[in-house]
Amino acid sequence: MDEFELIRRFFSRHSDSPLLVAGVGDDGAVLRPPAGRELVTVIDTMVAGTHFPTCMDARDIGYRIVAINLSDIAAMGGIPRWMTLALTLVDADEAWLDEFATGLYEAAGEWGVVLAGGDTTKGEQLVVSVQMSGDLAPGTALYRSGAKAGDTIYVTGTLGDAAAGLGRFAEGESRDYLARRFARPTARVAAGRALAGIAHAAIDVSDGLVADLAKVLEASGAGAELDVHRLPLSQELLDAVGREQALQHAMGGGDDYELCFTVPAPLLPAGIAPEVTAIGRIVPDAGLVCRDGDSVVPFDDTGYRHFR
Ligand code: ADP
Ligand code: MG
Repeated sequence: MDEFELIRRFFSRHSDSPLLVAGVGDDGAVLRPPAGRELVTVIDTMVAGTHFPTCMDARDIGYRIVAINLSDIAAMGGIPRWMTLALTLVDADEAWLDEFATGLYEAAGEWGVVLAGGDTTKGEQLVVSVQMSGDLAPGTALYRSGAKAGDTIYVTGTLGDAAAGLGRFAEGESRDYLARRFARPTARVAAGRALAGIAHAAIDVSDGLVADLAKVLEASGAGAELDVHRLPLSQELLDAVGREQALQHAMGGGDDYELCFTVPAPLLPAGIAPEVTAIGRIVPDAGLVCRDGDSVVPFDDTGYRHFR
């Protein structure tokens, strides 16, 4: 199986989508964007052994690379539409490719995203990169920079599961709830769309709540108070590691891909209320103060950074 047969067999399913003028098979794909909309584009790369355990299923690798890009589009308030895939493979294992493609198309199919093209190379390490684009109504994109004193800070879903889930892989357990939360993050696309043009600021939590909220605060020139006792924790996480460690994971652990956003409280769209929790407020003075009831929780982790 050469490169071109591989592309034809595994990555050419979407070529007659109405979202494409031309898809896989030429030097470039030609996209058909909805008239009068702004385009938002993101890219995320996963290196085996750095961003996911080398033992992770091919199907989950395919799912996850799409999900984390969907999450970035969601954090911008966009509707995901197109993606391209850059794949560096150690070898062309057909069973692996079949599983990988299944997971990739599964995640893309949840939001109708089409695979428009890509690049396939051989290398010494598995590297998977997806670039994704979406659209939004002009002027409605969500930025990190718009948080204002008095805003309520919300987060979707629960926090800390993925950090504990990553630990599960090291223990040889990849199928329980927490491990699934790492391998198959839920991209909050519907929430992001509901917040477009409404939230003052948004970010997806990939490096950890404290680290990612700090980016919002810096971009917005504001500070925040976090109510640690309000952080949403899953029962599975609490049962597995207890409250103390669960809170550490929730504040410092990455990979949850939940949305953290700020809105003036009365503006929270009713539809998203069931899946979000208010966890604090934006204040005028710089810095982040974490309170657990009456006590201030010391916390100095700044999240995962490459090359640190
Ligand atoms: P070029 O040499 O002009 O860059 P390629 O030979 O790399 O083109 O790719 C041929 C076609 O296959 C292109 O349309 C490209 O977008 C597509 N393609 C290559 N790799 C992938 C992949 N992994 N997934 C989807 N499409 C791919
Ligand atoms: Mg070319």
